[in-house]
Amino acid sequence: MEKLEKQTYTVGERVEKFCAPCGEERGHVVASITKRGQIARVSCPQCGTRSTFKNGDAGVRRSPAKAGAPYDRARTYRAGQSLTHPVFGEGEVTAVIEPQKIDVLFPDRMRRLIHARPQQG
Ligand SMILES: [Zn+2]
Repeated sequence: MEKLEKQTYTVGERVEKFCAPCGEERGHVVASITKRGQIARVSCPQCGTRSTFKNGDAGVRRSPAKAGAPYDRARTYRAGQSLTHPVFGEGEVTAVIEPQKIDVLFPDRMRRLIHARPQQG
């Protein structure tokens, strides 16, 4: 019996891909998948460019060169900043959604975190 190692993906997962407008390989978010669970399109959270995803592009998951400071919900983040979450690991802030909510791209997928929320007594 041969073991099938068919990797499937879900929308919202993170993959590494070269982004031409950004001029660098960076984390992208899976925007759509095929019926077989393969990536059809990805979007770059930095510049918003959507592009097709070929199998040859697949999954080089490198650890980020720059490690971010530990995630601190009291801190105010901006797009492009890096952080290290105790559970999710290395992340990059891709967008500020609301004054106190940010989207962060982690090694596995995008997650929404809170920020700019000082501890109150
Ligand atoms: Zn880009």
